[in-house]
Amino acid sequence: MKNIILFGAPGAGKGTLIELLGDKGFQFSLVNPGQMLRDITKEDSEFGRKIKETMARGELVDDFLVTELVKKKIRELEKGKPIIFDGYPRSLGQVEIVDEIFTEAGFDLPYLVFVKISKEEAVKRLSARRVCSECKENFQDFEMEDPEKCPKCGGKIIQREDDKPIVIEERFEIFNLQFKIIDHYFKSRDRYFEIDGTIPKEERVEELIEIIKS
Ligand code: ADP
Ligand code: ZN
Repeated sequence: MKNIILFGAPGAGKGTLIELLGDKGFQFSLVNPGQMLRDITKEDSEFGRKIKETMARGELVDDFLVTELVKKKIRELEKGKPIIFDGYPRSLGQVEIVDEIFTEAGFDLPYLVFVKISKEEAVKRLSARRVCSECKENFQDFEMEDPEKCPKCGGKIIQREDDKPIVIEERFEIFNLQFKIIDHYFKSRDRYFEIDGTIPKEERVEELIEIIKS
């Protein structure tokens, strides 16, 4: 089984893909620095507040900090399950160290899986994304009966700070920079796969499973 770095523009549907993979009972370990960072922002500390501000602007959090979090996490992972990185590497500094992180922790080198989608489609999805503040479920605003209330748990529906239009633009600029670096690194090492982000999600998840098993 292959270890995977899942990569795609904001809105490419990486989160949905991972959720479906879990629903199918596929066994894997997930490393998601975005989530780890969000947990830190819940701490009532100067540190937490700083990170929260950076994330709300859609900017990358400090390389060293994120890399330390990821290193700590990977050391705790069970051997024998494929690893999926969602949201790392995202910068040149991170790309340069990612193979070392896997090797040091005793895992096989990862393959890049790029989920491809056009900017137009991605912006459409992101601007429509709403999330339940209680159960964290994602919805598209046009499919909701009550735009303020979660159809699953009744919780309050919110829009993520970084899904607001100006921040979406900022995230895309950052993504384009990351794309060039990351794409080149894995392509030139022949560790590269692509999934069409616009095909039905059940098909996308099957393709991902095929890649991991190949
Ligand atoms: P999204 O994929 O929608 O951008 P994430 O949960 O992956 O959401 O990331 C949210 C935020 O967390 C990012 O905008 C960034 O500020 C921070 N972050 C996540 N991953 C990294 C990383 N590898 N390096 C630096 N910052 C990161
Ligand atoms: Zn809910």
